[in-house]
Amino acid sequence: MFRLHDVSYAYGGSRTAQAALSHISLDVPQGEFRWLLGPSGAGKSSLLSILALEAQASAGMVEILGVPVMQARRGALARLRRRIGAVYQDFRLLPDLNVFDNVALPLRLQHRAEAEISHEVHAIMKWVGLETRLDALPPQLSGGEQQRVAIARAVIYRPALLVADEPTNALDDRQAARLLAMFHRLAELGTTIVVATHNDSIVRKYPAPAIELAHGHLVRDYR
Ligand code: ADP
Ligand code: ADP
Repeated sequence: MFRLHDVSYAYGGSRTAQAALSHISLDVPQGEFRWLLGPSGAGKSSLLSILALEAQASAGMVEILGVPVMQARRGALARLRRRIGAVYQDFRLLPDLNVFDNVALPLRLQHRAEAEISHEVHAIMKWVGLETRLDALPPQLSGGEQQRVAIARAVIYRPALLVADEPTNALDDRQAARLLAMFHRLAELGTTIVVATHNDSIVRKYPAPAIELAHGHLVRDYR
Protein backbone atom coordinates (compact mmCIF):
# COMPACT_ATOMS: atom_id res chain seq x y z
CA MET A 1 0.00 0.00 0.00
CA PHE A 2 1.00 3.60 -0.16
CA ARG A 3 -0.26 6.80 1.35
CA LEU A 4 0.38 10.40 0.40
CA HIS A 5 -0.70 13.27 2.57
CA ASP A 6 -0.68 16.83 1.26
CA VAL A 7 2.21 16.09 -1.10
CA SER A 8 3.57 18.82 -3.34
CA TYR A 9 6.42 18.60 -5.79
CA ALA A 10 8.30 21.16 -7.84
CA TYR A 11 11.14 20.36 -10.22
CA GLY A 12 14.50 21.38 -8.86
CA GLY A 13 12.86 22.02 -5.49
CA SER A 14 12.58 25.66 -6.45
CA ARG A 15 9.92 27.56 -4.54
CA THR A 16 9.24 29.84 -7.47
CA ALA A 17 8.89 26.97 -9.96
CA GLN A 18 5.38 26.01 -10.91
CA ALA A 19 4.42 22.99 -8.91
CA ALA A 20 4.21 19.72 -10.84
CA LEU A 21 2.07 18.33 -7.98
CA SER A 22 0.00 20.34 -5.47
CA HIS A 23 -1.42 19.06 -2.19
CA ILE A 24 -2.04 15.46 -3.24
CA SER A 25 -3.55 13.11 -0.66
CA LEU A 26 -4.08 9.46 -1.61
CA ASP A 27 -4.44 6.13 0.11
CA VAL A 28 -4.16 2.94 -1.95
CA PRO A 29 -4.41 -0.41 -0.11
CA GLN A 30 -2.22 -3.43 -0.83
CA GLY A 31 -3.16 -5.50 -3.86
CA GLU A 32 -5.24 -2.85 -5.61
CA PHE A 33 -4.99 -1.63 -9.18
CA ARG A 34 -5.38 2.04 -10.11
CA TRP A 35 -5.34 3.82 -13.39
CA LEU A 36 -3.53 7.14 -13.16
CA LEU A 37 -5.20 9.50 -15.61
CA GLY A 38 -4.84 13.06 -16.82
CA PRO A 39 -3.65 14.92 -19.89
CA SER A 40 -0.02 15.37 -20.77
CA GLY A 41 1.64 17.64 -18.21
CA ALA A 42 -0.91 16.82 -15.48
CA GLY A 43 1.77 15.39 -13.18
CA LYS A 44 1.41 11.63 -13.76
CA SER A 45 5.11 10.96 -14.31
CA SER A 46 6.00 13.16 -11.35
CA LEU A 47 3.69 11.18 -9.09
CA LEU A 48 5.11 7.87 -10.37
CA SER A 49 8.67 9.04 -9.77
CA ILE A 50 7.80 9.87 -6.17
CA LEU A 51 6.28 6.39 -5.75
CA ALA A 52 9.35 4.79 -7.37
CA LEU A 53 11.61 6.75 -4.97
CA GLU A 54 13.21 8.54 -7.90
CA ALA A 55 12.06 11.94 -6.74
CA GLN A 56 11.49 13.38 -3.28
CA ALA A 57 8.31 15.27 -2.49
CA SER A 58 8.98 18.94 -1.76
CA ALA A 59 6.37 18.91 1.01
CA GLY A 60 3.91 16.54 2.64
CA MET A 61 4.05 12.94 3.86
CA VAL A 62 4.84 9.88 1.73
CA GLU A 63 4.45 6.38 3.15
CA ILE A 64 5.20 3.39 0.92
CA LEU A 65 4.75 -0.22 2.08
CA GLY A 66 4.68 1.03 5.66
CA VAL A 67 7.91 3.04 5.35
CA PRO A 68 7.72 6.80 6.01
CA VAL A 69 9.87 7.82 3.05
CA MET A 70 10.74 11.37 4.10
CA GLN A 71 12.24 10.20 7.42
CA ALA A 72 13.75 6.93 6.24
CA ARG A 73 17.48 6.34 6.34
CA ARG A 74 19.43 5.45 3.24
CA GLY A 75 19.56 1.72 4.06
CA ALA A 76 15.82 1.51 4.62
CA LEU A 77 15.22 3.35 1.34
CA ALA A 78 17.53 0.97 -0.52
CA ARG A 79 15.61 -2.02 0.89
CA LEU A 80 12.29 -0.38 0.04
CA ARG A 81 13.45 0.33 -3.52
CA ARG A 82 14.00 -3.41 -4.05
CA ARG A 83 10.31 -4.00 -3.34
CA ILE A 84 9.19 -1.53 -6.01
CA GLY A 85 9.08 -2.28 -9.74
CA ALA A 86 8.97 0.53 -12.29
CA VAL A 87 8.28 0.58 -16.02
CA TYR A 88 9.50 3.85 -17.51
CA GLN A 89 8.19 5.49 -20.64
CA ASP A 90 11.67 5.36 -22.16
CA PHE A 91 12.16 1.73 -20.92
CA ARG A 92 15.68 2.44 -19.49
CA LEU A 93 17.13 -0.85 -20.62
CA LEU A 94 20.90 -1.16 -20.45
CA PRO A 95 21.92 -1.07 -24.13
CA ASP A 96 25.14 -3.09 -23.70
CA LEU A 97 23.49 -5.97 -21.85
CA ASN A 98 21.46 -8.56 -23.71
CA VAL A 99 17.80 -9.18 -22.94
CA PHE A 100 18.55 -12.01 -20.54
CA ASP A 101 20.97 -9.93 -18.49
CA ASN A 102 18.67 -6.90 -18.45
CA VAL A 103 15.80 -8.97 -17.07
CA ALA A 104 18.08 -10.91 -14.68
CA LEU A 105 19.46 -7.71 -13.15
CA PRO A 106 16.98 -7.31 -10.27
CA LEU A 107 17.51 -10.96 -9.25
CA ARG A 108 21.29 -10.63 -9.45
CA LEU A 109 21.07 -7.62 -7.14
CA GLN A 110 19.28 -9.95 -4.71
CA HIS A 111 22.16 -12.45 -5.05
CA ARG A 112 19.87 -15.26 -6.21
CA ALA A 113 21.45 -18.48 -7.47
CA GLU A 114 22.19 -18.48 -11.23
CA ALA A 115 20.06 -21.60 -11.85
CA GLU A 116 17.07 -19.96 -10.20
CA ILE A 117 17.69 -16.73 -12.12
CA SER A 118 17.80 -18.62 -15.41
CA HIS A 119 14.55 -20.41 -14.57
CA GLU A 120 12.76 -17.19 -13.63
CA VAL A 121 14.02 -15.25 -16.66
CA HIS A 122 12.97 -17.99 -19.07
CA ALA A 123 9.52 -18.21 -17.47
CA ILE A 124 8.81 -14.48 -17.56
CA MET A 125 10.20 -14.07 -21.08
CA LYS A 126 7.98 -16.88 -22.29
CA TRP A 127 5.08 -15.05 -20.75
CA VAL A 128 5.84 -11.84 -22.59
CA GLY A 129 6.46 -13.83 -25.76
CA LEU A 130 10.16 -13.00 -26.13
CA GLU A 131 11.80 -16.27 -25.13
CA THR A 132 13.60 -16.43 -28.47
CA ARG A 133 15.20 -12.97 -28.10
CA LEU A 134 17.23 -13.52 -24.92
CA ASP A 135 20.55 -12.93 -26.68
CA ALA A 136 19.48 -9.75 -28.47
CA LEU A 137 20.68 -6.34 -27.39
CA PRO A 138 17.93 -3.78 -26.65
CA PRO A 139 18.81 -1.54 -29.63
CA GLN A 140 18.10 -4.52 -31.92
CA LEU A 141 14.52 -4.78 -30.65
CA SER A 142 11.38 -2.96 -31.75
CA GLY A 143 9.76 -0.45 -29.39
CA GLY A 144 7.07 -2.95 -28.41
CA GLU A 145 9.66 -5.63 -27.71
CA GLN A 146 11.74 -3.25 -25.60
CA GLN A 147 8.61 -2.31 -23.68
CA ARG A 148 7.92 -5.99 -22.96
CA VAL A 149 11.51 -6.49 -21.76
CA ALA A 150 11.12 -3.48 -19.45
CA ILE A 151 7.86 -4.94 -18.11
CA ALA A 152 9.49 -8.34 -17.55
CA ARG A 153 12.35 -6.71 -15.64
CA ALA A 154 9.91 -4.76 -13.46
CA VAL A 155 7.77 -7.75 -12.49
CA ILE A 156 10.35 -10.55 -12.29
CA TYR A 157 10.89 -10.27 -8.54
CA ARG A 158 7.18 -9.81 -7.83
CA PRO A 159 7.43 -6.33 -6.39
CA ALA A 160 4.99 -5.28 -3.68
CA LEU A 161 4.42 -2.01 -5.56
CA LEU A 162 4.51 -1.70 -9.35
CA VAL A 163 4.34 1.64 -11.13
CA ALA A 164 4.15 1.82 -14.92
CA ASP A 165 4.23 4.91 -17.13
CA GLU A 166 2.27 4.39 -20.37
CA PRO A 167 3.26 0.69 -20.46
CA THR A 168 1.03 -0.10 -23.43
CA ASN A 169 1.95 2.74 -25.76
CA ALA A 170 4.25 0.58 -27.90
CA LEU A 171 2.08 -2.56 -27.72
CA ASP A 172 -0.60 -3.73 -30.12
CA ASP A 173 -4.12 -4.44 -28.82
CA ARG A 174 -3.46 -8.11 -28.24
CA GLN A 175 -0.25 -7.51 -26.31
CA ALA A 176 -1.90 -4.75 -24.28
CA ALA A 177 -4.68 -7.17 -23.35
CA ARG A 178 -2.09 -9.73 -22.23
CA LEU A 179 -0.28 -7.12 -20.19
CA LEU A 180 -3.42 -5.96 -18.41
CA ALA A 181 -4.34 -9.55 -17.66
CA MET A 182 -0.90 -10.00 -16.11
CA PHE A 183 -1.28 -6.81 -14.06
CA HIS A 184 -4.63 -7.94 -12.73
CA ARG A 185 -3.17 -11.31 -11.82
CA LEU A 186 -0.27 -9.61 -10.00
CA ALA A 187 -2.74 -7.44 -8.08
CA GLU A 188 -4.64 -10.57 -7.06
CA LEU A 189 -1.34 -11.96 -5.78
CA GLY A 190 -0.93 -8.84 -3.62
CA THR A 191 0.99 -6.30 -5.69
CA THR A 192 -0.30 -2.73 -5.60
CA ILE A 193 -0.27 -1.38 -9.16
CA VAL A 194 -0.48 2.13 -10.58
CA VAL A 195 -0.58 2.52 -14.35
CA ALA A 196 -0.41 5.97 -15.91
CA THR A 197 -2.00 6.44 -19.29
CA HIS A 198 -3.65 9.08 -21.40
CA ASN A 199 -5.17 6.41 -23.63
CA ASP A 200 -8.91 6.65 -22.93
CA SER A 201 -9.85 3.70 -25.08
CA ILE A 202 -7.73 1.28 -23.08
CA VAL A 203 -9.26 2.57 -19.84
CA ARG A 204 -12.74 2.09 -21.25
CA LYS A 205 -11.81 -1.42 -22.30
CA TYR A 206 -10.32 -2.34 -18.91
CA PRO A 207 -12.43 -0.53 -16.32
CA ALA A 208 -10.73 -0.17 -12.94
CA PRO A 209 -10.65 2.46 -10.19
CA ALA A 210 -8.87 5.63 -11.29
CA ILE A 211 -6.89 8.48 -9.82
CA GLU A 212 -7.02 11.55 -12.03
CA LEU A 213 -4.73 14.57 -12.09
CA ALA A 214 -5.11 17.94 -13.81
CA HIS A 215 -2.49 20.68 -13.58
CA GLY A 216 -0.86 18.89 -10.66
CA HIS A 217 -4.08 18.67 -8.65
CA LEU A 218 -6.04 15.57 -7.74
CA VAL A 219 -9.39 15.85 -9.48
CA ARG A 220 -10.68 12.31 -8.96
CA ASP A 221 -9.89 9.60 -6.49
CA TYR A 222 -11.66 6.30 -6.32
CA ARG A 223 -12.17 4.92 -2.88
P1 ADP B 1 2.54 13.93 -17.15
O1 ADP B 1 3.31 12.71 -16.83
O2 ADP B 1 1.12 13.87 -16.68
O3 ADP B 1 2.64 14.32 -18.59
P2 ADP B 1 4.64 15.33 -15.73
O4 ADP B 1 4.70 14.82 -14.35
O5 ADP B 1 5.64 14.86 -16.71
O6 ADP B 1 3.16 15.15 -16.31
O7 ADP B 1 4.74 16.92 -15.71
C1 ADP B 1 4.09 17.72 -14.72
C2 ADP B 1 4.61 19.15 -14.83
O8 ADP B 1 6.00 19.17 -14.52
C3 ADP B 1 4.46 19.76 -16.22
O9 ADP B 1 4.12 21.11 -16.05
C4 ADP B 1 5.83 19.60 -16.81
O10 ADP B 1 6.08 20.61 -17.73
C5 ADP B 1 6.74 19.72 -15.59
N1 ADP B 1 7.98 18.96 -15.76
C6 ADP B 1 8.06 17.66 -16.10
N2 ADP B 1 9.35 17.25 -16.15
C7 ADP B 1 10.10 18.34 -15.83
C8 ADP B 1 11.49 18.58 -15.68
N3 ADP B 1 12.38 17.62 -15.89
N4 ADP B 1 11.88 19.84 -15.32
C9 ADP B 1 10.99 20.81 -15.10
N5 ADP B 1 9.67 20.64 -15.21
C10 ADP B 1 9.21 19.44 -15.57
P1 ADP C 1 -0.92 -17.97 -28.76
O1 ADP C 1 -2.34 -17.59 -28.37
O2 ADP C 1 -0.73 -18.19 -30.21
O3 ADP C 1 -0.35 -19.06 -27.91
P2 ADP C 1 0.05 -15.88 -27.13
O4 ADP C 1 -1.31 -15.41 -26.74
O5 ADP C 1 0.86 -16.61 -26.13
O6 ADP C 1 -0.03 -16.70 -28.47
O7 ADP C 1 0.90 -14.64 -27.65
C1 ADP C 1 0.42 -13.89 -28.73
C2 ADP C 1 1.34 -12.72 -28.93
O8 ADP C 1 1.32 -11.88 -27.78
C3 ADP C 1 2.77 -13.14 -29.14
O9 ADP C 1 3.28 -12.44 -30.27
C4 ADP C 1 3.50 -12.71 -27.92
O10 ADP C 1 4.75 -12.16 -28.31
C5 ADP C 1 2.64 -11.64 -27.33
N1 ADP C 1 2.61 -11.69 -25.88
C6 ADP C 1 2.46 -12.77 -25.13
N2 ADP C 1 2.45 -12.44 -23.84
C7 ADP C 1 2.58 -11.11 -23.75
C8 ADP C 1 2.62 -10.17 -22.69
N3 ADP C 1 2.54 -10.53 -21.41
N4 ADP C 1 2.78 -8.88 -22.97
C9 ADP C 1 2.87 -8.49 -24.23
N5 ADP C 1 2.83 -9.33 -25.30
C10 ADP C 1 2.69 -10.62 -25.07
